[in-house]
Order: sequence, then structure tokens, then C-alpha cells
Amino acid sequence: MVSFRKVTKSYGNLVVMDSLDLDIAEGEMVTIIGPSGSGKTTVLRMLMTLETINGGVIYVDGKPLTHMPDGNGLVHANDRYLRRMRSKIGMCFQHFNLFPHMTALENCMEGPVHVLGLSKKEARERSEELLAMVGMADKRNQHPSRLSGGQQQRVAIARAMAMRPKVMLFDEVTSALDPEVIGEVTNVIRKLVAEHHLTMLMVTHQMGFAKDISDRVCFFYGGRIEEQGAPEELFGNPRRERTQQFLSAVK
Ligand code: ADP
Repeated sequence: MVSFRKVTKSYGNLVVMDSLDLDIAEGEMVTIIGPSGSGKTTVLRMLMTLETINGGVIYVDGKPLTHMPDGNGLVHANDRYLRRMRSKIGMCFQHFNLFPHMTALENCMEGPVHVLGLSKKEARERSEELLAMVGMADKRNQHPSRLSGGQQQRVAIARAMAMRPKVMLFDEVTSALDPEVIGEVTNVIRKLVAEHHLTMLMVTHQMGFAKDISDRVCFFYGGRIEEQGAPEELFGNPRRERTQQFLSAVK
């Protein structure tokens, strides 16, 4: 579903992603861990086409993300193609980023109506279903300022899901939350994994959560995958010294 092929990203002389190869299968839940500055967020931003890349290709659902095949190779994609590719990807951020002037329900309906062209009735039905799934049905007419951080994040997840993405990205979605509400958000993500056959890529600092939810964990260091494997292997028996050091420091 997602393939990074020799993807390189630099800011000036600073290489922050060094020939990254990463494949994520359909329905797979992959978690990225690693020290601050190792490139975790950059991976998600590149997938959201929020960052241009300096080399390599990213494929989503079998198609190049920012370039189109033209018979001889790849050429820059037009806006329509980019929009279509972007609509395959849903993202949730650390700071929810809900539209403040809209209710929870309106936040969820916005994309389906204005980007996908659904009727208001269809968008409402879809949004209400998703708000119920995240346990926010009774708050659907509230504005974000009236909701707790955990509640806002659950609405943000429902909003991203309302676009029916093929891939969901989660960028430290629990980092800005009070400890007592982290569980309500991680439980929603657990539910997504259990009930929806979604491909997911998550960056998290919560090692316990990464361990029990992921199919695979990638440890990033210096813009590269230093080590990856099934969670029980990577956490239980890390092979690389840098992985061992990182895991013992975050325990
Ligand atoms: P992480 O998410 O693992 O903390 P990031 O992906 O945010 O790491 O950053 C990777 C590297 O890229 C860091 O060295 C960071 O300083 C650098 N970086 C990120 N964004 C920019 C930017 N806009 N300009 C210059 N350097 C940046």
C-alpha cells in the first residue's frame, strides 16, 4: 500500500532522510519510534506531500505520489492527480487542528461534502456513524473549544476517517493530552485496528502502546531505519546498540 524507494530529503546541506526504503502492506500497522530529530515526523510529512523530496519515489496504492508515469519515466503530477493521491491519506496530528468555528459534526462533514462531493445527507450519516464509533455521538453539536483534548482528538480521528482514506497516519496523537485521557484515544486507535482493515503508520513516544498495537516497529536514527521488526523482537531482543540505548533511556 505504501512504498518508499530510496527516498532522500535534505534541508540545505542537512540530509534528514537518507535513501529510505520502507514498505507497508495493506492492513498493516507500522509504528515509528526513535530519538527526537531522527526524521519520524518527516516520514509522515513526505507522505502527506507537505514536504518535497530530493530523490527517490514514494508509492501509495501502487501509484507514485507526486509524479505520474509518462511512458519514459516519471514526470511531475498535475494538481488533479495530487489531490486524488492526497485523498487516499488521512492524518491526525498532535494538536488536533479541528476547525474552531465548526461543531464536531460539521468538522467531519466538511471534507466529504467539499472535497468528495457527497450530499449533505450522505456526509451527515457517515459522520454520525464515525462520531458514534469514537464515542462522541452525544457531543456532535459542540464546538472544539467546549471539548477536552481527548475528545477533540477523537473527533479529529473521526474527521480523518470520514474521507475513507486507504492509509491513516498518526503523528504523536497522544503527546498533547493529559495522562488520564490518553487511554480514550489509544482505545479508539485499537478499535480501528481491530474493526477496519486500514493501513496505518504511527509515530509515538508511548512504547507500551507501540508494543501491543503494531505489526511492525521501525526504530529511526539519523534519518534511517536503524532496526525494524515485530514488536516482541524489537522491544524484547533489540540487536543494534543504538536501539538498546534508546529503549533503555525511555523505559
Ligand atoms: P523527529 O520527528 O524524529 O523529531 P523530524 O522529522 O521532525 O524529527 O526532523 C528531522 C530532522 O530534520 C531534524 O534534524 C530537524 O531539525 C530537521 N528539520 C525538520 N524540519 C526542518 C525545516 N523546516 N528546516 C530545517 N531542518 C528541519
